[in-house]
Amino acid sequence: MMHEDDRETLILGEDIDDDHFHDECGVFGIWGHPEAAKLAYLGLYALQHRGQESCGIVTRDGEILHTHKGMGLVRELFTEAELDKLTGDAAIGHTRYSTAGPSAGKNAQPFSVQCSKGPLAVAHNGNLTNGWELRKELEDSGSIFQATSDTEVIPHLMARSRETTLSQALRESLLRLEGAYSLVLLANDRLIVARDQRGFRPLSLGRMTAPDGSTAYVFASETCAFDLIQAELIDEVHPGEMIIVSDEGISRERFAPELDRAHCVFEHVYFSRPDSRVYGRPVSQTREILGRILARESPVPADCVIAVPDSGVPAAIGYASESGLPYRLGLIRNHYVGRTFIEPQQTMRDFRVRQKLNPVRHVVEGQRVVLVDDSLVRGTTSRKIVRLMREFGAKEIHLRISCPPTIGSCYYGVDTPSTAELIGANQTIEQIREFTGADSLAYLSLEGLEKSMGDIAGDCCYACYTGKYPTELVGIETLTSQAKK
Ligand code: 5GP
Ligand code: MG
Repeated sequence: MMHEDDRETLILGEDIDDDHFHDECGVFGIWGHPEAAKLAYLGLYALQHRGQESCGIVTRDGEILHTHKGMGLVRELFTEAELDKLTGDAAIGHTRYSTAGPSAGKNAQPFSVQCSKGPLAVAHNGNLTNGWELRKELEDSGSIFQATSDTEVIPHLMARSRETTLSQALRESLLRLEGAYSLVLLANDRLIVARDQRGFRPLSLGRMTAPDGSTAYVFASETCAFDLIQAELIDEVHPGEMIIVSDEGISRERFAPELDRAHCVFEHVYFSRPDSRVYGRPVSQTREILGRILARESPVPADCVIAVPDSGVPAAIGYASESGLPYRLGLIRNHYVGRTFIEPQQTMRDFRVRQKLNPVRHVVEGQRVVLVDDSLVRGTTSRKIVRLMREFGAKEIHLRISCPPTIGSCYYGVDTPSTAELIGANQTIEQIREFTGADSLAYLSLEGLEKSMGDIAGDCCYACYTGKYPTELVGIETLTSQAKK
């Protein structure tokens, strides 16, 4: 089996710990189009970088919801025949990254339930900081959970609500949730989306014209999904906002007051695709400025700038333009790396990195190289890449990271390892330089990151770089004392 994989999962795969419960995800929703399932499929395909472990689509056809979900990539799980079974003119979809394992399939989303308010399906991007607390409370009073994901508390809370309408039950339930959520829900008569009061994770609203000339509404984690299906971006779903789409049209309302914004800055640093607009701002713009400011803050005499592809490319281009050094393709990425592969018996050092990234000898030999990557998490990948570049003849390697040292785990939906494994939390820059084997190492400053985001108002969450979390972290055992401040 071979597939392109736009995330670094394969490189990091060997190091990833198995006991986290954070999900990285993408969500999609559409209402009012006869090809809803196919468009959801394409939308998820464009959001594949947000999660490659499992995916799923639920469509509504009259009173009935149809579901297909499971482990695997979007294009592996959905065949033409499967999509044909997903009839109806509305759909929601989800793509998820989490650790592999026998139980992972049951956590595939959307979750569907049959409750007193009718059939309901939910897909969630984010992480509820009070998810375990709510779950425990629900279990103590008799709720039975099928999966281990925090998302499942949402339909349970809704099912228990005394409110008679689905929208009212959701409103009531949302007020109990803390943390990060961009949600899409599908019932037999409406599509509802909601975004948490701080706007941690992105969620956009768009529209397209259905074959009969009517308007179909679409929602997606990232606007690159709209581009693929030729939908037009209308707006972001605002923090604290709920949007209901039904045959009566679209209605937007605030279910709770907006709180101080906490847009995840890591979406711009690494997670989102550069062709998306996130929080109303082009991701590629931010990334190039990250590289430019990095060049201004940490210049170095060198012969060329090389990116660690794909995630380091826009920042490397920015670094090159600002420094006047040529941007060169010195690392080639093989896009056909599969999840399983045959390794030779004779052990090869750094096999997994080699399998994916190859230095270009002609470009790097004898050169003083500025090597730009978007982030340094554990440092293990960077160490291997530096070693590989040396093996191919690089004379000097100056590692430049287009964000500050990652010192805090994320509780809002990014799968950062525990603080103990974050090299930035435990070692000085000089120690990290030594570990990676680079001749010099520099990170972008926090001010540089804020400037690149154009974040004058303090609208972003920088918790992974500062350890200052914008919410209380109820019931999270791994909570560090620093995180409590
Ligand atoms: P490290 O040197 O810390 O082992 O790996 C750094 C690489 O991991 C960078 O190239 C970066 O693009 C990638 N990376 C950063 N954040 C994440 C993440 O949340 N998940 C995955 N899978 N890769 C990441
Ligand atoms: Mg990378």
